[in-house]
Amino acid sequence: MKHRIYDSKGKKVPVRMCASCMGRFEKKDLVRIVKLADGNIVVCNDEPSSKRTFGRGAYICKNKDCILKAQKTHALERSFKGKVPKEIYEVLLELDE
Ligand SMILES: [Zn+2]
Repeated sequence: MKHRIYDSKGKKVPVRMCASCMGRFEKKDLVRIVKLADGNIVVCNDEPSSKRTFGRGAYICKNKDCILKAQKTHALERSFKGKVPKEIYEVLLELDE
């Protein structure tokens, strides 16, 4: 999961892997989905770094194609080893404009 890319100034840019297309992107282009300790799954968009949500996380691109693909291929279910409510996909799809 840990892989680094560099921006034009040679600065390290943290990247994460999309659970759907397996591409590596900067965090700002991805949305984080977390399975909490109680089993609930939440979408953490624009999470403030001071208020981390702990749990098993997965990242997905903020674009419709990737989200629909994830729904079709059950990519998130595989990441979380359990069911992902369809409301989660509805929230994710709203992020893509
Ligand atoms: Zn993707």
